[in-house]
Amino acid sequence: MNSNDLIDQLQFFRDIGIESISVQPVRESRVAPVVVSQENDLMTLETIRTELGDCQRCKLAPKRTNIVFGSGNPKAELVFVGEAPGSDEDQQGLPFVGRAGQLLTKIIESINLKREDVYICNVLKCRPPDNRNPEPDEVAACHPFMKKQLATIRPKVVCCLGTFAAQTVLQNASPISKLRGQFFDLDGMRVIATFHPAYLLRSPDKKREVWEDMKQIRAELSRLQS
Ligand code: URA
Repeated sequence: MNSNDLIDQLQFFRDIGIESISVQPVRESRVAPVVVSQENDLMTLETIRTELGDCQRCKLAPKRTNIVFGSGNPKAELVFVGEAPGSDEDQQGLPFVGRAGQLLTKIIESINLKREDVYICNVLKCRPPDNRNPEPDEVAACHPFMKKQLATIRPKVVCCLGTFAAQTVLQNASPISKLRGQFFDLDGMRVIATFHPAYLLRSPDKKREVWEDMKQIRAELSRLQS
């Protein structure tokens, strides 16, 4: 990284609310190495999208403009899972393209990745009206598709954004304040949760914790390379 890049990076940290950075050696994690699943070899993101089709499996279908399947690198080592599309995403058919999405892009770039390097999807593929919380029947209908996306991409690390994604992916009802900041093993992937970017827009003081989580992700990806 040259000095201009470093200045840009530090300015970005300031912009997203990080006031100081401590430089420490990467800690070795004591967890077992990733076990890569051999199942689903014949599934691709395209076949999953085809199976989803013009989905009418739940009551969100009639109200949506577009299904928001997911976007990014189909071979990503890092996948972000959000909750459900909002209004901008519903209009464009792409995940995280509104204000929260712009912040997510900056968060991704804070660990020297580009949006195109990662894959981004949501638990629900259709927008809940008025951005209300997803309901259990909607999750039951949609969750299998997100699971197939993860099983096909087989990322090293999955980062759940917010309570809902964390609880759904991890099948754990604990609050995000308990779930975030630590890795869980799930089907050969390392799963971590952090605060949702939309929450950060409302509570910028939480950016510090997200930065800590992102550093853990960066260290874990680097550990899993070696
Ligand atoms: N919030 C989400 O959880 N997902 C999106 O795609 C956009 C906003």
